[in-house]
Amino acid sequence: MLQPVTLGSKTLADYTHIFGRDEIAEIRALAEPLKGARVVHVSATAFGGGVAEILYTLVPLMRDVGIDVEWQIIYGREEFFFATKLMHNALQGAPEDLTAEQWATWREYNEMNARELPDGWDVAIIHDPQPAAMYGLVPEKARSWLWRCHIDLSTPNADTIGQLLPYIRDYPETLFHMAQYVPDGLNGHVNVVPPAIDPLAPKNMALSPDDAAYVCGQFGIDVDRPLLVQVSRFDPWKDPLGVIDAYKLVKEERPDVQLALVGSMASDDPEGWDYYNATVAHADGDPDIFILNNFNNVGSIEVNAFQSHADVVIQKSIREGFGLTVSEALWKSKPFVGGDVGGIPLQVEQGVTGYLVRSPEQCAARCADIIADPALGKALGRRGKAHVRKHFLTPRYLRDYLKIFHEVLGINSGGGTGAAAASPDGATARGAAVAPPPGAASAQGDAA
Ligand code: UDP
Repeated sequence: MLQPVTLGSKTLADYTHIFGRDEIAEIRALAEPLKGARVVHVSATAFGGGVAEILYTLVPLMRDVGIDVEWQIIYGREEFFFATKLMHNALQGAPEDLTAEQWATWREYNEMNARELPDGWDVAIIHDPQPAAMYGLVPEKARSWLWRCHIDLSTPNADTIGQLLPYIRDYPETLFHMAQYVPDGLNGHVNVVPPAIDPLAPKNMALSPDDAAYVCGQFGIDVDRPLLVQVSRFDPWKDPLGVIDAYKLVKEERPDVQLALVGSMASDDPEGWDYYNATVAHADGDPDIFILNNFNNVGSIEVNAFQSHADVVIQKSIREGFGLTVSEALWKSKPFVGGDVGGIPLQVEQGVTGYLVRSPEQCAARCADIIADPALGKALGRRGKAHVRKHFLTPRYLRDYLKIFHEVLGINSGGGTGAAAASPDGATARGAAVAPPPGAASAQGDAA
């Protein structure tokens, strides 16, 4: 009943010129004792949102280094995804918890999926809350279990996290993007590992300015006028309405400005269409606002083109687990303006690699400054790209996972360093593999 995802192939060697020869060699050495290990990633959807985005790159690269890895999608019907979307919102701080009946629905689907999961895995990696109960139901099906949390759990609805905790508490290993997302009461080992983007995926590979402009032009954008872009699901946490408000303020100063809101509809997000309609209504027929989604043929290349062509990329989120779109924009050397929340400050240093804002007014002011001063935008973008190269590209993420596999499978890394081999940035395998940003200094270690 779980659906395996069909994947293309990727070759780690292709990343050498971007990530560095020594770093790639380190990954190969880490992978050597893991060859043939059977690993499964379990998630709720193969389409839409950051988790799918990450696994389309990470899983093929794990295969390339010799791991026998699969990615499987759990079975769920609307009642289940409705409950898990509520859970997602509540875990990010929304006041409404699931009803007892919805919790029961969530457990029933977990039982069904747990029963159907094949066994014999060395490592099972369960992504996000949707399938989180599986470990407790069939612990014998894998030698080790990881729960990978992709959302911002820093201010959860107390009832909801209280109900979820018994299901996640005993995972031997958990992974969070940031230290402040780690809930109290976990018994296993906690890893703080942010995700990463694939610089060679169609979404992020280098597009010439002409090609990017040509693609945007096909969607009706006037490529000679300034363009603000936000790429994200239609979701209240992404605040597309606030982006429109900011755009309207910029428009008062710069009547030639345009806005593109590019948002895919995810198959596990039944709220998406309602919020899409609310966004269209808020745009109120403004011909310079372009609201596009994957049903308008906007795929990875088009997202790339919009991000590459934008004068400013915005991610005005109110909550943001990490925000892959931030690294995607910075990797394209784009000036960035985004909400000062969640994983965004991890990627953006105020005034150095972009701007962090807390209101539509601040967002508008920063966008207007950048449009008025192209040299400023170029400098921000250049520094932003260097930051992403160092911290947020997939080979770094792969390296972190391999180190965790060493640990859970009891493999000694050799070289006298043990499983927790020091990474070039000096972090350990069990903690943040990136230099923690200001304010997140103790981003590693056991939660207990
Ligand atoms: N995305 C996309 N098309 C869209 C909207 C989003 O391909 O129309 C991608 C976006 O480029 C990014 C991912 O979906 O790679 C969203 O991940 P992020 O971490 O920003 O947010 P999430 O959706 O996981 O909350």
